[in-house]
Amino acid sequence: MSDLNELRIVDQLKAMGVLDEALLDDAAKLAQQQGIGLIQALLVSGMVSAADIAAAVQAAGEAAAAGGTASEAAALEPAEVVPEAPAEPPPQASARATQHARATRRPSASLDAYEVDTEAVRAVPRALADEYCVLPLQISEDRILVAMPDADNIFALDAIRDHTNRRVEAVEVDERELRRAIDHHYGLLARDHIRLTTPTKDLSGSVQEQAPAAGAAVDRDLLQILDQGPVVQVVQQLITDAVRMNASDIHVEPRSDHVQVRVRVDGRLTTVARLPKSLQQATISRIKILAEEDITETRLPQDGRFAAVVDDKAIDLRVSTLPTYWGEKAVLRILDKSKVFVSLRELGFRPDMLDEYEKLIHLPQGMILVTGPTGSGKSTTLYATLHTIKDETKNITTVEDPIEYEIDGINHTQVNPQIDLDFARALRHILRQDPDIILVGEIRDLETAEMAFRAALTGHLVFSTLHTNDAPSATTRLRDMGVEPYIIASSLVGILAQRLVRRICSHCREQVQPAAAELERLQLTPEQASRIRFHRGRGCQYCRNTGYSGRVALYELLVMNDEIRDAIVRGDSAHELRAIALRTGMKPLKHDGLVKVHQGITSAAEVISVMFAVEAL
Ligand SMILES: [Zn+2]
Repeated sequence: MSDLNELRIVDQLKAMGVLDEALLDDAAKLAQQQGIGLIQALLVSGMVSAADIAAAVQAAGEAAAAGGTASEAAALEPAEVVPEAPAEPPPQASARATQHARATRRPSASLDAYEVDTEAVRAVPRALADEYCVLPLQISEDRILVAMPDADNIFALDAIRDHTNRRVEAVEVDERELRRAIDHHYGLLARDHIRLTTPTKDLSGSVQEQAPAAGAAVDRDLLQILDQGPVVQVVQQLITDAVRMNASDIHVEPRSDHVQVRVRVDGRLTTVARLPKSLQQATISRIKILAEEDITETRLPQDGRFAAVVDDKAIDLRVSTLPTYWGEKAVLRILDKSKVFVSLRELGFRPDMLDEYEKLIHLPQGMILVTGPTGSGKSTTLYATLHTIKDETKNITTVEDPIEYEIDGINHTQVNPQIDLDFARALRHILRQDPDIILVGEIRDLETAEMAFRAALTGHLVFSTLHTNDAPSATTRLRDMGVEPYIIASSLVGILAQRLVRRICSHCREQVQPAAAELERLQLTPEQASRIRFHRGRGCQYCRNTGYSGRVALYELLVMNDEIRDAIVRGDSAHELRAIALRTGMKPLKHDGLVKVHQGITSAAEVISVMFAVEAL
């Protein structure tokens, strides 16, 4: 590769926000030490992913073809995607920030006010930063300034003091913002960050036989480097990148002349890499080997799983491979076990609703239903619920399809249709296991419904889910299924309907004027709209210019009361039930959405996008 090409790719990587001057310096040193090219140094050290380099090469090529250079193309990008200059603030700035932190410890100060010094980040290991949710900001001979959610957390302060041998000063920053910033800044630092923990046998040899042999480090053409780079590393990078992007799935998809890699982030697929066709077979084989699938079988779909540790986080990967026209496609579902333990409030419960919901889930008996379409976050809510109420004095048993997370202290049961272990049969046996709390993954048939309701009437707290648009429709769905109305009325204690919307990125949030069409879709009068502040994410390097980062649930909670019970027994329609529920205190999903729009948590467009199926909100 010529120096000019190298420069173009470096420029492009900077424009993409994945490379800064500090990393570049490190890479240059490594390149010199090992006598390899700069791009290869970035690649082998793991500073920049193969996927990013492939994207940069493509973009640089397009820019060159268009008659410009990559840097000219980059200059046309919005300023936000260009990373800040290296974090080496003048000493005065550091001192100022420190004094500021001590003088006024503002809760929810924004991190944007501080420059993050790479040296400070290096001084505190990732594990410590994660454990106490601490981001080091500045460091000097005798002091270290950190951001943390609670500046009075003496355990955290002690741990950092002991590790760094410096006096610790703290500024308080919102925990969620902090977690994201920790991911971002440690991500930039990371080197050798991923360990695949299973399978235990060493299979790298058999992969390398299929992959082109790793040759001497010759700096010719980037695609050649990707070919020579061990496929093991490519797969590791794809997983690492996906986990850091908080992706839920990785799709490795053969196309006619390349392999497309897409990841699902916040519910949407986005392309992260195009691998050369020559890497296809080795990449898919590597994934199949990790998942303990049969690599000689390429004509049939297969399933498997493996575990990995990325940035000290334990990750489970469920793998599915499927023959497609251009070869086998692999989908890796990422299950981050740490995510189960988010609190109900973090999921999106407003404080008033959380009080009501917590009363319900601490009842000794009754049925609580969570409703919403597939992918609306029902199981996350239920796992967080079980995690909230679990206690050594209670037997909590689940029957699920599939078990998404294993919570310590809970008995998870998996249905297995191949051996006729369906929901109804599993539930019948669970009832003989002296349960206190039961989670039935889904009510699909009358037999399961009747058994679950009987359990709820006889001293058990039962949770389950239904696919209905709103909370009141759950009762009519059960009635249509054949459950006796008086049984529904007497055992149901509450119904929670939910949807997921994307969160506005906290780094680039700003107020906006809503569009007239949006107000119309939300059915708001100008007077109502004038009392709501609308927000959007402008797009920045933290959110990859989407304006969003992560998701939050919108909830609608129906708490059973006598009027609704009467209406259920009377056989009222879902519409009538909804009217009664709203009259007796249920706040509709739209209300929750508008509160979160006003608070800057989500946008009007997101609320509208989940409302289309819900009439008469
Ligand atoms: Zn942003």
